[in-house]
Amino acid sequence: MLHALDGKTLLHQEASLASDAQLRRVHPQTYIDTLEAAIPASGGAAIDGDTWLSPGSMRAARRGVGGAIRGVDMVMEGAARNAFVATRPPGHHAESAQAMGFCLLGSIAAAAKHALDHHGLSRVAIVDFDVHHGNGTQDLVQGDARIAYLSSHQMPLFPGTGHPSETGIAGNVLNIALPAGTGSAGFRAAMTDSLLPAADAFAPELVLISAGFDAHAADPLANIALNEGDFAWITERLCDLADTHCAGRIVSCLEGGYDLHALAASAAAHVDVLIARGA
Ligand SMILES: [Zn+2]
Repeated sequence: MLHALDGKTLLHQEASLASDAQLRRVHPQTYIDTLEAAIPASGGAAIDGDTWLSPGSMRAARRGVGGAIRGVDMVMEGAARNAFVATRPPGHHAESAQAMGFCLLGSIAAAAKHALDHHGLSRVAIVDFDVHHGNGTQDLVQGDARIAYLSSHQMPLFPGTGHPSETGIAGNVLNIALPAGTGSAGFRAAMTDSLLPAADAFAPELVLISAGFDAHAADPLANIALNEGDFAWITERLCDLADTHCAGRIVSCLEGGYDLHALAASAAAHVDVLIARGA
């Protein structure tokens, strides 16, 4: 489901199914074919201990990519100022030819490449505040200086990547490692001191967000102690960034979040800001 926000009006749209051609911007065809061939007729098939396929998995994953791309199209064409793509599975752990961490396809990286190739943009920023490092997104974009990948994440934690020394082909990757126990003040300071100035210096023509809400204090998979107010705060700051550089254009894609009550409240806080700032 895609929620495009035009002024105060929330437009609900069905996420499109991404085509093979759209997926090939970030994955080789052999990988796509291998995933399709591994889809079970019934029940589940394990890729690894975390990552499973069901009969509907590839359609769901294609909708994740297709929703992100459709969000980019709507925002670039002026049909909405911003959009929130509420799809699962998430995508930021999927590498070029390796599914992992619940993720099959690199949704937000594919959306960034689409914005560059289809809409002719020169600079797209991806801000990832999921509590896990987006090793997949980094793998897919670190060699493309037109994309800035800016991530804050708990470290050490799955997947083990995301050290600040990983900076991309042209300094276009910024990794901010947060120690376990980081709360609101530490998160906001890291954003204010490092991530937001780097994003501002990049001057993006479109802002994409990997919106994972598993840095919430209630989340069972990590040990960062954010609350709904922190997610509203970073959303406000990213709206400021987008207002400064790109007429407010934001496409936010759901990533992680595993305490369902915290996920719902945090996503609502995030979307409330997008609605208010989309006016
Ligand atoms: Zn996560």
